[in-house]
Amino acid sequence: MSQRALINVDYTYDFVAEDGKLTCGYPGQAIEDKIVSLTEEFIEAGDFVVFAIDSHEKDDPLHPETALFPPHNIDGTKGKQLYGKLAETYENNKHLKTVYSFDKTRYSAFAGTNLEIKLRERKIEEIHLVGVCTDICILHTAVDAYNKGFKIVVHKEAVASFNEIGHQWALEHFKNTLGATII
Ligand code: ZN
Repeated sequence: MSQRALINVDYTYDFVAEDGKLTCGYPGQAIEDKIVSLTEEFIEAGDFVVFAIDSHEKDDPLHPETALFPPHNIDGTKGKQLYGKLAETYENNKHLKTVYSFDKTRYSAFAGTNLEIKLRERKIEEIHLVGVCTDICILHTAVDAYNKGFKIVVHKEAVASFNEIGHQWALEHFKNTLGATII
C-alpha cells in the first residue's frame, strides 16, 4: 500500500465561522464533525496529517487577493485560527512528528511552500483533501497535485463552499479531469 497523507485546507475561523471575514457559512460549518473524525482517523493510523493555512498581511499591496476579497486570515488574528473542534484536534496532536502545520499565501497548498518536499521525503503518493473552499483552494491544490503526479482522494462530505454550483462543478472536475477518487 502506498503512503498517504491528509491535507487539511483552510478550515479556519474566517472561512467557516458565522462572522468569519470570508466565510463559506453553513456548508462550511456542516462538515465540522466529518473533517474532525477524518483527521483523527489519519492521526491514529500514523499517517502524515497536514494543515495548510491561508496567511495574509493586512492591506498587502502586492498580493493579488487584496483586490479580490475582503481582508481575511490576517497573520496573528483569530480569523487565521482553526475553526471549532478541529482546533482542539490540532492542539492535542501538534506535538506528533506526523502532524505538520504551515502557512500558505496562495490558493494552492503547494504554491511557494515546502509541502511537496515533505510529501516526497515520506514517499507519499496519495493525498486526501479536506477543507474549504471546494472550488478555490481545494481545487487549486488538487490541480497542482495532479500535475505533480500524486493520486488524489477528495472526501466529499469534508469539503464545502459558499458556492453550491462551484462545489458541484469542482467535484465533477476532480473526478473526470484530475482522475481523483471521490469518497
Ligand atoms: Zn486568501
